[in-house]
Amino acid sequence: MLTEDTIVAISTSLGHSGIGIVRLSGKDSIRITDKIFVSPKKKSLKQTPSHRIIYGHIINSNKEIIDEVLVSVMKAPHTYTREDIVEINCHGGPVPLRRILKLVLKAGARLAEPGEFTRRAFLNGRIDLAQAEAVLDVINSLTEQSQKAAIEQLRGGLSKKIEPIREELIKLTAFVEAHIDFPEEDIAPPSLKDMEKMALNIQQSLKELIDSSQYGMILREGLKTAIIGRPNVGKSSLLNALLEQDRAIVTEVPGTTRDVIEDYLNIQGIPIKIMDTAGIREVKNIAEKEGVKRSLRAMKDADLVLIILDGSENLHDTDRELIAKSNSKNTILVINKIDLPQKMKLKKPDRQTVRVSAIKGTGLEELKDKITEATLNGKPLDGMGIVTNIRHVHALQRSLAAINSFIKGAKKISPEFLAVELRDALNAIGEIVGITTPEDILNKIFGDFCIGK
Ligand code: GDP
Repeated sequence: MLTEDTIVAISTSLGHSGIGIVRLSGKDSIRITDKIFVSPKKKSLKQTPSHRIIYGHIINSNKEIIDEVLVSVMKAPHTYTREDIVEINCHGGPVPLRRILKLVLKAGARLAEPGEFTRRAFLNGRIDLAQAEAVLDVINSLTEQSQKAAIEQLRGGLSKKIEPIREELIKLTAFVEAHIDFPEEDIAPPSLKDMEKMALNIQQSLKELIDSSQYGMILREGLKTAIIGRPNVGKSSLLNALLEQDRAIVTEVPGTTRDVIEDYLNIQGIPIKIMDTAGIREVKNIAEKEGVKRSLRAMKDADLVLIILDGSENLHDTDRELIAKSNSKNTILVINKIDLPQKMKLKKPDRQTVRVSAIKGTGLEELKDKITEATLNGKPLDGMGIVTNIRHVHALQRSLAAINSFIKGAKKISPEFLAVELRDALNAIGEIVGITTPEDILNKIFGDFCIGK
C-alpha cells in the first residue's frame, strides 16, 4: 500500500443529516483542497495555522458554488494518521458529499480503501494493531459496557498487558540463544532454573489473558442465546417483551451475514444476541418433531439456553426431552403464563428456574438477573474486557502452546529447539499488536472497516 499519495473519502454515513464530512489525508491534502476552496478573505489553507477551522465555499472549475463549508486543517504529525489531514464539513446529504468528493478526486487525491485512514495511523506508528482494531469495535459496540472495553483497548489497555510479556519473551530468547552461540564462553547466563521460572511467569500471564477473553468476547460479539420451546408456549411474546424493554441499538452488524437482521438485547450491559429471531417469530407451522430438531441444534451452538414452558399446561414429553438434553450449566427454565391458573409441576429441577408472564411483564426482572448471573458467574462486568477479539485469543493460545513446549522440553531438549519454541511464542504474541502480523491478515482486518475510517 502506498502512503505517499493523498487519499480521500466520505467519512460520515451516506444518509441525510445535518453535516457530512469529506476527509483527506496525505502530504497534498492542503494543496488539493486549496484548489477547490475559497474563503471570504481569500486566505489560502496553506497559510492557515494547524488545527483551525475556516469558513468558506467549495467551488468547481467554473467558480460555481457547490456548498457552504467549514474546513478543518490539521497538519502532521499531530493528526489521526500522522499525515496532513483536511476535513471538509459540508451539508450532510449524498449529493453535496458526492459532488465534493468528485472535485477532490479531480484535484489529485485517490479514493481511500476501506480502513485506510486507520491503516495509515498504524503504519505511521501512531497506534498499534490492537488499537486499530479497537477503532472498529468502538464504532460497532453493542452496549455501553462493550464500548467501554473497546475504548480501553483503543487507549492501549491490551497493548500494555502484551508488552511486558513480549519483553520477558525477548529476554528469555536472548538467554537461550546466548547458550547456542557461545556454549563454551563464560557469559554467565541465568541458570536453567531461573529460565524456567521466567517461562512459568510468562505462561501464567498468557493464561490470565486467555481467561479474560471468555467475557471479553461476549462484550464484543454478544452472548449467543437460544430461546426454545414447544409451539405456543410464548417464545415470541417473551422475545417481544424483552426487546421492548432492552433492545440494544444495533440491529445489524457488519461482518455477519448482511441480510440477516439480528436482535440484540442489552441486559445489564451484557449484549445478548438472540439466535434465529425470525424463526422464533415465524416458524409456527412446522411439525413438532422438526421443531425439536431445530431447538436441539440451536441449543448446541448457544452460550445460553432459555427453555420456555407453558405453566398453564402439564409438562409435555417434548418439554421433558428438551430439558433432558440441555446442559444444566447454561440453561434457564422459563415457566411462562403465570397469570393463568397453573398446572405445571416440575420435580425439583436441577436447572435455574424462573416464573414469568410475557403478556403481563411479570418476572422479567428476575429473568434478567438470572441471565446476568449465569453469564458472569458472580464476576464483575467492569474490567473484564481485556481480550475481546477471537484473533487475539488464537494468537495467545499459540503463544501459550509454544511456551508450554518450552517448559516441557527445558531439561531434555537442545537449546536450538528451545529457541525455536520461544521464537514461535514471540511471533504469535507479536501478531496481536502488529509487529509480526502477515500482510494478508492486515488486509483482512482493515478490509472489514468502512471506507472513510
Ligand atoms: P410461541 O409459539 O412460543 O412463539 O408462542 P407465542 O408467543 O406466539 O404465544 C402463543 C399464545 O400464548 C399467544 O396467544 C399469546 O398471546 C399467548 N401467551 C404468550 N405469553 C403469555 C402469557 O404470559 N400469558 C398468557 N395468558 N398468554 C400468553
